[in-house]
Amino acid sequence: MRFISKLPQVGTTIFTVMSRRAIEENALNIGQGFPDYAIDPRLADALMEVIGEGRNQYAPMEGTIELREQISNKLNLSYRQRFDPHTEITVTCGATEALYDAIQAAVGPGDEAIIFDPAYDSYEPAVRLAGAHCVRVALKPPAFRFDWDEVRGALNDRTKLIIINSPQNPSCSVAGASDLDELAACIRDRAITVIADEVYEHVLFDGRRHQSVLAHPELRERSYTVFSFGKTLHATGWRVGYCIAPPEMTRELRKVHQFNTFSIASPLQHAIARYLSAYPDAWQGLSAFFEAKRDLLAGLLKGSGLEPLPAAGTYFQLVDYGSISEADDLQFADRLIREAKVATIPLSPFYAKPPHMTLVRLCIAKRDETLREAALRLCSFAQRAQGPR
Ligand code: PMP
Ligand code: GLN
Repeated sequence: MRFISKLPQVGTTIFTVMSRRAIEENALNIGQGFPDYAIDPRLADALMEVIGEGRNQYAPMEGTIELREQISNKLNLSYRQRFDPHTEITVTCGATEALYDAIQAAVGPGDEAIIFDPAYDSYEPAVRLAGAHCVRVALKPPAFRFDWDEVRGALNDRTKLIIINSPQNPSCSVAGASDLDELAACIRDRAITVIADEVYEHVLFDGRRHQSVLAHPELRERSYTVFSFGKTLHATGWRVGYCIAPPEMTRELRKVHQFNTFSIASPLQHAIARYLSAYPDAWQGLSAFFEAKRDLLAGLLKGSGLEPLPAAGTYFQLVDYGSISEADDLQFADRLIREAKVATIPLSPFYAKPPHMTLVRLCIAKRDETLREAALRLCSFAQRAQGPR
């Protein structure tokens, strides 16, 4: 029997590929987005405590009430909005599961979902598995802005979903208040759901403020909004995220969630709840923390030939290698691994039809020593690659 693939175009994610290559080539990995520094020891202690107390059996399907209450409190602190832990908050296995469940709940065969290019890689496969398909609208380079006329042009009766992501991975751009108003106007008279991927809600630079759909009365009513404690607590491997949606939409999301992961690791939820109740503002310094890292890395690379682009948010930094090479980004990223011993992420896998671009993505969620060492290797590579000047 020939096994028919349901996702014939999908290979292994670029993050996994580049992390594997980093190990093979013994390269410094500033590709895949994960911190290389320790989590807050008070969070680690909380985990040991709750395991010792025996909190080791199934958590409730929707998440522990303690954690959902802390999430509600956190959203109130951030956005001055109240969400009911019983009917509007669901704990998921990272943002990835929340996105998957929300997509399965929102679209079915024949439906269309609008996503913006470049797009985070998990959206399109989840839309395809639901039997729907993606219509891609480009974020306009060089600043990767939304083009709402293009969005309006892409809408039709089959459009059932729009996925937005701000701050945006991988472009490091952020949506403004007027973008949310435009989005609301686009879908006002249509039966379209929004998924807002806000995993970088606390990582905006230069005084910018995050515009959450949760604080937009019209959008809040029709959005699944997705967050990740992986980002907020520097613990990507804990795989704890959550999804906020109105009660009717939450009911549909939970129907998928209960047969997907059923429930999320109980001690992790108890530990996060305990930590947030003791330190409710633990996440408030994140923008300043990452802004300093962005400034360190961008400052070291400026003028090297691997030119940092403006970054408004996320824990990434794009660099343009156009003055060094015309090679496509997959080839160039491979060259960086072999010759500079630095692993990065090329941008083309974030596109359905990649334009010719000379950009790679670097992760700034690293110790300052790691960023300094990466910059040293990248600058000396760039100098060799450009030859005597
Ligand atoms: N969305 C975006 C934009 C991301 O960058 C990531 C991961 N970095 C995710 C979703 C997935 O988050 P998680 O690791 O919590 O599943
Ligand atoms: N979101 C992370 C990134 O953009 C990767 C997560 C993953 O490997 N699935 O780097």
